[in-house]
This record gives sequence, C-alpha cells and structure tokens, in this order.
Amino acid sequence: MAPSLPSRPADVLVVGAGFAGAIMAERIASVLDLRVLVVDRREHIAGNAYDELDEHGIRIHRYGPHLFHANSDKVVAFLSRFTDWWPYEHRVRASVGEQLLPVPINLDTINARYGAGLSEGDVEAWLAAQAEPMSHVRTAEDAVVARMGRAVYEDFFRGYTRKQWGLDPRQLDASVTARIPVRTDRDDRYFTDRFQALPAEGYTAMFARILDHPNIEVRLGTEYAEAAAHAGHRHLVYTGCIDEFFERRFGALPYRSLTFDLRHEPTPGGATVLPVGQVNFPSEDVAHTRVTEFRHFQPAEPRAVTALAFEYPSATGDPFYPIPRPANRERYRQYQVLARTRSDVTFVGRLARYQYLNMDQVTGQALATFAERAAVIAASARR
Ligand code: FAD
Repeated sequence: MAPSLPSRPADVLVVGAGFAGAIMAERIASVLDLRVLVVDRREHIAGNAYDELDEHGIRIHRYGPHLFHANSDKVVAFLSRFTDWWPYEHRVRASVGEQLLPVPINLDTINARYGAGLSEGDVEAWLAAQAEPMSHVRTAEDAVVARMGRAVYEDFFRGYTRKQWGLDPRQLDASVTARIPVRTDRDDRYFTDRFQALPAEGYTAMFARILDHPNIEVRLGTEYAEAAAHAGHRHLVYTGCIDEFFERRFGALPYRSLTFDLRHEPTPGGATVLPVGQVNFPSEDVAHTRVTEFRHFQPAEPRAVTALAFEYPSATGDPFYPIPRPANRERYRQYQVLARTRSDVTFVGRLARYQYLNMDQVTGQALATFAERAAVIAASARR
C-alpha cells in the first residue's frame, strides 16, 4: 500500500511515540509552536509502556510490568499534567526451593532462607561473614560473591542472570549486579522512591493526552523511512535504535529481548493467585524468569478470572535491554560521535542512546534534551 501523505507539512518529524518521542513532541508543539508529525512503526502509542484492558477489565501491560517510581518532583509534576495517579507500591517475591522470599533481599529473606535468626543490627556482619573478599571486582559474579557470599549468589542471582542475559555472570560487567540493594530491615517494597504510583486510567490514556495538541499529528504503523520521504520536515527527533539510523555501519548494537505468555486462569474465590504483583524464578529448572499478575496493579476487587504474564528471555525480538559489555559500549560510542555531527537530528530515548532507562529517567532525559536543543530545533525548523 502506498504511504499516504501527511495532511499538512510538518516542521519536525518525531520517530517513536514512547516517552521520549511523545514528550519531545508535546514540548515542541506547545513551547515552540511548531507543527509536529509523530510516527511509530507499532500500531499503538505509548511505546513499551503500552497498556490495554482485556475482555475481563484487567489492565494488561503488553511489554511487561511497568511500575512508575520517581524521586524527581519535576518529572512527576510534568506527567501529572496528563494523568491522575493510583498509589501503588510494587512488591516482589523470589521462588527459591519451596519458599516465596522477599526481593530485594532483606532481613526476612535471610532469616527465612538461612535460618539466621538475625535482627536488624546483625545483617551487615552476617553478610560480611558470607562475603569472599576480592582485590578486583570485575564481573557480575564477583560483585555479588564479594558482597554477599556464594550461597546467596547461587540461590538468587546465578540462574536468574544466566536466563536473563543468556550469558554467565562471569561474562557480564560488575555493573549488572553491583547496585542491587540488600536491606538490613524488613522493608519489602521493590522500590524506595518517594513517588510510586500508576496512571489512574493507564499509560496509554496518559500518552493520548500528552499527544492531544492541535500542532501534533500522529501516524501509527508507519516506518521512519516511509514518513521521512513525505513529511517535509526540517528537523528530526529520533527515538529509535541509533545503529539502525546509521545503517549499522559499525555493526549491530546487541539487545536482549523477551517473549510474554499471557494466561488467564479462573479464580472462583475471587482472590488473586500470587500474594504480590510479581514472582521471580531464579532457578534454571524453569525457563521463565518472572510471572506478573496484573490484578495487583489496580484497586482490589473480587473477580472470577486473573491474568498472568510469564516472561521468557530471548535473543531475538523487540530490542529491550542493551547488553552491558564493554565492546558494545565502545561500538555505541562510535555511533555517538557520528550523531554529534548531525545538528538536524536530535537523538533521545533509550534506543537512540543505547542505555537502559526507567520511565522517570527517560522523562527527565526528554525534558532536559528539549531544554538543551530547543534553540537548535527552532532555528532548523524555521529555515
Ligand atoms: P520506547 O518506549 O521503546 O519507544 C520507542 C518507540 O519508537 C517504539 O514504540 C518503537 O516502535 C518506535 N520506533 C523505533 N524505531 C522506529 C522506526 N524506525 N520507525 C518508526 N517507529 C520506530 N521502566 C520503569 O520505570 N518501570 C518499570 O517497571 C519498567 N519495566 C520495564 C519492563 C520491560 C520488560 C522493559 C523492556 C522496560 C521497562 N521499563 C520500565 C523501561 C521503559 O519501558 C522505558 O523507560 C521506556 O519505554 C523508554 O521510552 P522510549 O521512548 O525511550 O522508548
């Protein structure tokens, strides 16, 4: 089918209708008063944060559970212009042996798994006694073993990391596991950010409001190359994969992907199946890494059905997680140098910057990028 022409020429073409693209489009349309065409190759807005109600009224996150958490008042204030919030604190359990244990590891995890009988003040000393001191912490395995010892590593990290990345933790940067928190108290919340909530009517509704501006036109199911030929734009905001933009001239930037198996199960008593929204499976005896029960993400209500997403890491599919290895970072730096030569293009978002970003971080990045690039965008678009 021949691509149809935009109904009016755009000053700026934005590729991607996720957080980065939608926020840039809104800022350019409302602050600079320029006409923006937003395209996305998917058939929906909201990028990976896309959610929808299933036939049972359960809100499903199509690309895995998306829990919003932030410490930045600026980020929360910006998004709050487009949504009300439903307070939600995420909790996760790990299935280890016959037990469901809190993660991040806390006092209760250690006592339940290792019969340690500790109180709050004892945890650091217990960890230090388990730890295997090392002069150089190089790998993801080193980072855990040097801090918490081998038993904790084998129970909670080794299998999960091997499944998640398709690589042994010895082959991965220490950064993959270095910042994983251990709690010395009983706090079993997955995040500790000041603000934790979900958009009251879902992410997709929030994105629809962000993009609802007379200067913005949205075209879905549309590739960048197809739109570029007809948009008539003078500036491009690109939130897709940077290696794809430059036709992979330095080689592909590798990603880890996921497949999701969505299952509906009857819940005759009306209650949920899992005690919390997410259960992780570190064991390599099962192929999935985690299971999400979406009913926990909305106000509790007895229902006859529940919806569970089983996640399977995969080498192919949508680009989800940049693979954290030095060679990949080096390759990205080559693309970054090339990107800096293009004043007509603004590269923003997790794919264009080849970095894992949470939703609050990508919101902050888009707002900061707009502030830095507004003058350049305005000048190039008005030429
Ligand atoms: P995206 O949302 O990926 O949007 C980019 C868009 O560009 C896509 O829709 C894509 O189709 C489009 N596109 C790319 N190339 C082209 C092209 N050539 N032509 C047309 N369109 C194109 N963050 C949290 O804060 N909390 C969470 O709990 C959380 N959970 C996550 C779970 C998973 C499984 C994953 C993968 C991520 C999770 N995130 C979470 C991160 C969150 O998804 C990102 O912060 C967010 O999606 C980044 O927005 P973005 O606009 O940069 O990218």
